[in-house]
Formats: sequence, structure tokens, C-alpha cells
Amino acid sequence: MENKKVVFGPVLSRRLGYSLGIDILPSKTCNLDCVYCEVCKTTNLTDERFRFVDFDQVINEISEVSHEIDYITITGSGEPTLHLDLNILIAKLKKNFNYPIVLITNSLLLRKKSVRKELENLDIIMPSLDAVSQDVFEAVNKPVKGIMITDVINGLIDFRKTYRGNIWLEILFCKGINDGINEIKKMKGIIKKINPDKIQLNTVARPPAYTNTGPLSFSELQTIADLLDNQKVEIIISKPSNRKGEPLTEIELINYLRRRPANFEEINLCFGEQTDITRTMLLDLQKSKKIEKYTYNNEVFFKVCVFD
Ligand code: SF4
Repeated sequence: MENKKVVFGPVLSRRLGYSLGIDILPSKTCNLDCVYCEVCKTTNLTDERFRFVDFDQVINEISEVSHEIDYITITGSGEPTLHLDLNILIAKLKKNFNYPIVLITNSLLLRKKSVRKELENLDIIMPSLDAVSQDVFEAVNKPVKGIMITDVINGLIDFRKTYRGNIWLEILFCKGINDGINEIKKMKGIIKKINPDKIQLNTVARPPAYTNTGPLSFSELQTIADLLDNQKVEIIISKPSNRKGEPLTEIELINYLRRRPANFEEINLCFGEQTDITRTMLLDLQKSKKIEKYTYNNEVFFKVCVFD
């Protein structure tokens, strides 16, 4: 696909402001198949690590970005720790750019000492932990067969012992799946052992891969925050910024929507609030069938088909 690049954005992230994303895996490769995944259902469910991108290409692509950014984030349409040699990528990013380097991960491979070692020079790691019981883990995250949530939890605890950067632990709650009171009570003790710098409570905000769930309300998240009773807990809510950037290009918009659906407001904010230009481009891309519009939770989203 001629428009496919490794670097995308900057994405207006709810947690990181303007974050330049690096997508280092073919879509959609993951060791989980989360019911809430905003990319799509996992087509390559694997726990085997491999090499895929040329790290020098990543550096070249970032060098060409002219937008203002706050962070460089290793993320994308799958689980980034499935890529080998992340220590080499992190070292190259730090050598060439003066931005904090962030990794978003589902935490599974932190159960391996060799992977924990590769990640020790990150500035921020944002690991997920959506469940602490095996049955709830399997229901919400649908992992590769044989992965035990206790091993993942122990990996997070061990990583905290040696890692000097920030750990922002994310828990994403899905209505009726991982929001039971017993699970939350168990989480409370385990979170204390992991001892993250932040605990970020999230819920389904975009169309999920599976339709058997939906979002919690803000007050339900607040109740969970109260049950966790930890001063580091915060609830993630959208905080749109009005900082102006550059007008978007068609390629940038397609690359942005390839990773996750977005509504008009987010797209417009990310690319400089050039409302007329954004609107025209979205219409043109719909006419040429490069993107499509659909509704989730009474909100209109735009997306690119993963297999276009
Ligand atoms: S949400 Fe993340 S960890 Fe879960 S299936 Fe999607 S890419 Fe994988």
C-alpha cells in the first residue's frame, strides 16, 4: 500500500497530548484479541517475537515531521513488544531526537526478563492490566492460549523493581466483563504491589472489535476509583486542546485513521483546526472509498478498512 508509513500522527492522545506514533508491526498482530480493541479483531494472534521494520526508516520518517509534538510513542496496530530489539530502537530514538520516548503495551511480554531488559531506557511505559483473575482476563483480553495472568502480574512487579522511568498503568473497563466488585477488590491489592506512578482508569471510547460490551459511565468509573482507594488513580477523559498545527495532508489523514477511528472534532484538532479543509478532505476520501463513516454510541466516526 503506497501510503503506508511507519510513523503516523501526531495523534491527539487523551493521555499524552500530541504524540507522534510509531507503528512497528503489520496489522493486526497481537498476543491478545481484546473485546474493546479499537483497531479491529486480531488476525495474527501470536506470542512469538519477530523483526519487521527497519529502524533507520523510522528515524528518517520522524526527521521529516514538521508538526509540534510532545512525545514519541511506540504503539500501533498490535502489541509493539512483539517486535524484537526494542532496546536498539529506543537508543536510536534517544540519540536522534529530544522527546520523551513512550511505549504502550498490553504487559504480556513483561513476564520475560529479556523483554524487561530491552525496555529499561524508556521514559514512560504505559502497560495495561484489565484483569487480575484468569477467567476475567480471558473474557476481556482473549489471550494466546496458555498465558497466565499471574505471570503477567509478576512481570509488572519485577519490572518496577529495576525500571527507573515512569509507569502509568492503564485499566480499561468494559461494561459487564471486568467491572465486577470482586475483581476490583482483587485489583486493589495487586496494584499496590506493582506500585505504578499513575493508575489510569479508562473505558470503551471508540467502536470496539466485539459488540458484547460497551462503556462505563463517568460515575461508574468514579465508584471504581473510590473502591481502589489509591491517590494515584485518575480517570481518563477527553481533553481536547486548541493548539494549532499544520493543515493535514491526505496521506497523513489516511495513516492516522488506519490506526484507529476518530471523530471529526479529533481529526480537526489534530491537524490544525482548518475546518473547511478537513471537511472537504473527509468528503473526498469517502467519495473515493478510501475511508468510511459510521456511527457508534450516537457518535460519528471515520475509519480506513484494515485490509484496504
Ligand atoms: S487493544 Fe491492544 S492489546 Fe488489545 S487486541 Fe488491541 S492491540 Fe492488542
